[in-house]
Amino acid sequence: MSYSVLSELEACPRRWALGSAKYANIGGEYGYPPAWNHSVIEGRVVHLSLQRITRALVDSGCNSITDAGAVSTLRDLGGFSKAVRESSKKVLESYEKNPRVEFSFEKLKQHLLTRIPDLRTQVQRQLSRIRPITRTSSKLKSEFNHKDRKDHSRTQLGYGSYPEVEIRSVEIGWRGFVDLLSLIDTECEIREFKTGVPKEEHEFQIRVYATLWARDRELNPAGKIANRLVLSYNETEIEVPSPSEIEISQLEDELRSRTTEVIRSLESDPPEARPKLTNCKYCQVRHLCGEYWHMHLTQTNTHEWRKEFGDVQIRLSHQSGPSSWRGVVESGSGLVVGGPILLQTSHHRLEPKANNHLRVLNVHLSFPEEETGEEQPATVIATMGLYSEVFLL
Ligand code: SF4
Repeated sequence: MSYSVLSELEACPRRWALGSAKYANIGGEYGYPPAWNHSVIEGRVVHLSLQRITRALVDSGCNSITDAGAVSTLRDLGGFSKAVRESSKKVLESYEKNPRVEFSFEKLKQHLLTRIPDLRTQVQRQLSRIRPITRTSSKLKSEFNHKDRKDHSRTQLGYGSYPEVEIRSVEIGWRGFVDLLSLIDTECEIREFKTGVPKEEHEFQIRVYATLWARDRELNPAGKIANRLVLSYNETEIEVPSPSEIEISQLEDELRSRTTEVIRSLESDPPEARPKLTNCKYCQVRHLCGEYWHMHLTQTNTHEWRKEFGDVQIRLSHQSGPSSWRGVVESGSGLVVGGPILLQTSHHRLEPKANNHLRVLNVHLSFPEEETGEEQPATVIATMGLYSEVFLL
C-alpha cells in the first residue's frame, strides 16, 4: 500500500479499479491510459528535473546551488533549461502512444514547451532552498539508484542526501518514495517537493513517510526518527511537526486499519462507485462509469454541475453540417435529459452515424436561456476542443 493508492481507494474504489485494470484492446498493460492534464504533467516535469539536478549536486559534493562546484555540475547537465527540457521530453515520451492524446499530441507538446521558462523558475526556486549533504560512503554514491534498485541494495543509509528514496515497512505493508531524505548525526530531514497549492492531506502524507522511515528496518535499522519534515512549494515551504515515537505508533495503527478498510471495499465486484462532484470532476475514467452517467439523470439542471465545460452523453439523430450533428441529451452535466443538442466536432476525426450513442468529455457547453417561452427546450450547443474526448458506446 502507498499513500496515493490509499487516497484513491478511499475516494472511490471503482475509480481505482477502472484506472488500474488491464485492458486487452489498449496495449494489454495494467492501467487505463491517462488523459492529458497540464498540472499533472508540469508537476512530473518539475519533479523529474529536481530529481536529476539534486542527484548530480549530491554526487559532486555540492552543499548548495550557489556552491562554486554547482556551476560546473549544472554546466555538465547543460544548464537548468536543458535539464527541464530533457525532463519534458521524458514525460512526453510516456504519452506518445497514448490513444487519448493521439490527435492532439503535437499541439499539447508545443504548449508544454512554451511553459519551460516558468517550470525552470519553479525548479530553481525549489533548489535554492535545499542544502544537500555529501554522502559519507562513496560506495553508496554509485550503488544508490532510487526506484530501480534491486532489493539486495537496501542497506543502512550512511550520512548524506538521497533523492527519490524508497522507504518501506514490511510490518505495516506500506511503501513510499521520499523526494529528498537528508541524514546527519543530529538531524534527519524528509522533504517533499509540491507543485500545487498547500493542502491538508500533504501534511498527512509527509507524516506517513516519517512513520515508514522510522519503521524501515533495512535503510534505518536503528529506527532513527525524522526530526524535520518540510513541504516545499513553489512560493514557500512549510515545516510540519514531526511525529513523536508515540504518534508514530498511532499512525502505524491508523495505516493498518485504513488499509484493512479499503481492501474490504474492493471485495464487491465491481468495486463500489462513489459518485459525487469532488470525486468525479477530475476522474480519468468517468466515461467508463455507469454510476457517473446515472447520477446526472437525477441531478439534471442543477447549477452545481452546470459549467462552461462539461460532459454529455448524446444519441445522435442526423448530421446537420460537415462537422456538426444534431441529437438528444441522454445524460450530462446540468443538462435536461431528452433536450436537443448540437454537437460541433471540427477538431476531431469523428465518423459517427445516426443513432450512435456518444460520451463526450470536456466539451464546451452553451446553454440556452432558461425561459425561452417555447414548449420545447432550446438547443444546447456542445463544441469540442483540444481537450475534448469522445467515446462511442
Ligand atoms: S466517475 Fe465518479 S463514481 Fe465513477 S469511478 Fe469516477 S470518481 Fe468514481
